[in-house]
Amino acid sequence: MASYFKRVFKPTYREYLYAIPGKKSIGGCFKLLWNLIKPNAVTYPDVVVVLTTHCSLRCAKCNNLMPCYKEPYHIPAEEVLNDIRTLLSHTDLCVKLELLGGEPFIYPEIDKVIDGVRDFKNVMCVAFTTNATVIPSDETLKKIAALSNKKIVISDYGVKTQKVEEFMKVCKEYGIPCGRSISRYWADPGNTECRNKSIEQLGIEYNKCYSSRYCRTMLNGRVYACARAASLADLGLMDGSHDSFNVREKVSDREFRKGFRKFLTLDYADACNYCDHFLNIHIPAGEQLP
Ligand code: SF4
Repeated sequence: MASYFKRVFKPTYREYLYAIPGKKSIGGCFKLLWNLIKPNAVTYPDVVVVLTTHCSLRCAKCNNLMPCYKEPYHIPAEEVLNDIRTLLSHTDLCVKLELLGGEPFIYPEIDKVIDGVRDFKNVMCVAFTTNATVIPSDETLKKIAALSNKKIVISDYGVKTQKVEEFMKVCKEYGIPCGRSISRYWADPGNTECRNKSIEQLGIEYNKCYSSRYCRTMLNGRVYACARAASLADLGLMDGSHDSFNVREKVSDREFRKGFRKFLTLDYADACNYCDHFLNIHIPAGEQLP
């Protein structure tokens, strides 16, 4: 089992320092530390929640494989919220709950999900990652603005249809913290074929990868080791059982915590057998497919 310090403690503390808007209090730091070290603690840096596999862009080499969906779909808000509720009922602290797609602002039930995540005391920040092609409605922006700790992050690839400046202006008007993540290059994840790497190699790649610590992704009731793992399994390109934790399985709090801690400290992920990130080959970001 990989070290708890390396895979959970350090990334969680780092996420707390850098991903949450606003000043950090000493009380907040102590609270986080206690929730990381107490017996059977379930505290983690981030969980990304997939709301939809529809996207308003068609990026070549999308790490999350959205263009591979021949029949993209929206996940019903009730299902999404039930899974979040279950996970959080066995969680001490989640630093960042991230709502994602595809593109979250084309998800028709976004308002319902925002209402549903409003009251979780063990979530430090609710984040939205968007490609800024669609400006949310006033209603949605008001709901986001009313969340106690929130932020929007724009993935700016320099694609013509992205309305980055306009989106940032609107966020400012509503008092929503908004960050811009400018990428003109990203690491090529390659195709979706199995590379037949050894377990040892998978472990090396998994432990080096940023996504394996900060992008654990919930999709249809399972939390996966990273976003690519979630899509690979959902598309039937890989058996996702090793790389995921089933949130919907009815077990006691003790068993849930034990299983989830084991998942958080996985030694390797099968998904890395379907990914070239380790090679770090840079390609232009956001090139649009026809
Ligand atoms: S499949 Fe492995 S290398 Fe690729 S993004 Fe996921 S954790 Fe990283």
